[in-house]
Amino acid sequence: MNALPRSVPPHRCWAAIDLAALERNLRLIRASLPAHIRYVAVVKADAYGHGLHHAAARMMHSGADLFAVANISEAAQLRELGPGWPILLLSPLLPEEDRFLADLDLAATVSTAGEVARFDAVGRAAGKRLKVHLKVDTGMGRLGVWHEQAPELCSAILAAPHLELAGVFTHFASPDDDPAYTAEQRKRFLAALARCEGVDSSKIFVHADNSAGLETMPGQSPFNAVRVGLLQFGILPHPNSLLAQVHTEPVFSFHTRVGIVKALPAGTTISYGRTHTLPRDSIVAVLCAGYGDGIPRAVSNRAEVLIHGRRCPVLGRVTMDQTIVDVTDVPDVACGDEVVLVGRQQGAEISITEFSRWADTIPWETLCSVTKRVPRLYRTPLGI
Ligand SMILES: *Cc1c(COP(=O)(O)O)cnc(C)c1O
Repeated sequence: MNALPRSVPPHRCWAAIDLAALERNLRLIRASLPAHIRYVAVVKADAYGHGLHHAAARMMHSGADLFAVANISEAAQLRELGPGWPILLLSPLLPEEDRFLADLDLAATVSTAGEVARFDAVGRAAGKRLKVHLKVDTGMGRLGVWHEQAPELCSAILAAPHLELAGVFTHFASPDDDPAYTAEQRKRFLAALARCEGVDSSKIFVHADNSAGLETMPGQSPFNAVRVGLLQFGILPHPNSLLAQVHTEPVFSFHTRVGIVKALPAGTTISYGRTHTLPRDSIVAVLCAGYGDGIPRAVSNRAEVLIHGRRCPVLGRVTMDQTIVDVTDVPDVACGDEVVLVGRQQGAEISITEFSRWADTIPWETLCSVTKRVPRLYRTPLGI
């Protein structure tokens, strides 16, 4: 490690974010899609934990056409970066938030007649037309108007003097594992859209596909945009994904350091609840990170970490600030050595997918679970 000024303590646990990889990924995904397809970059939840400001700033130069966020505060952060960029809010607004649609120039997602009335009133008060995207529930059972009622709501939007229909979209429930259901959802969406009178779908955003949806995405109209989240961060939506052909690379890696190294005799029980007993005389390393940093307690006795490029198993329960690993078979481990929780080290790799499996969860949640104690460092690794 470089010598640091005394006033800056070194990092004990950090996420490294490779923005150059993010840019390459975005360009590769774009290049794999038909040229007319527009790219909605989904950057909700702090750009999947990568840091909204840095990630979005880079994406603005890498081919994003529109940004999608979950809420007003994310939208406000984005708006600071670029006044002209179209921003779509994916989540419903609370009544007190409505006015920000006009103030921040955002496009809202519309699922109900009540929203049409509210947003039209905001447009009237602000003296402008607000953009909205009509969301159609084709079988996700979450946001959107049920597909059979979509034409009615669409007409209400078109009749609202202070609203402009900028898009129509739906969201898939099982794009990664149920192609038949996804096809049925597409069919319902197209049928609903065909019944929406007065809509020229070539003039608005028509979108359905998230990362997993891209595998089965029909390149033809009326679909003319995709909403990509996970894949742009170099993570496949499921292990056998055809999207592996796009050759995206991981943007995120997760690191900590060794706190102490010590020898313990066979038979010692490790950590809270004594869930692991050393089968042999062992050397253990205590790492400077725990669930307070986003190593889920669920990976207790399951995960492995990389030290000196070797896999070292987690012993016993992960605790708030420390995690214990077995380094008996790794020579010369010492205080301060770098530990990779997710990422590459000396040719070895632990993917976020593998890490998430140990935690019985999905990469989306793993990324959202890295806590705010963990600084995000924007750097491109050298020599990999
Ligand atoms: C999060 C989200 C996406 C992106 O999904 P990924 O699977 O991460 O690509 C797309 N659309 C909606 C509505 C979402 O909420």
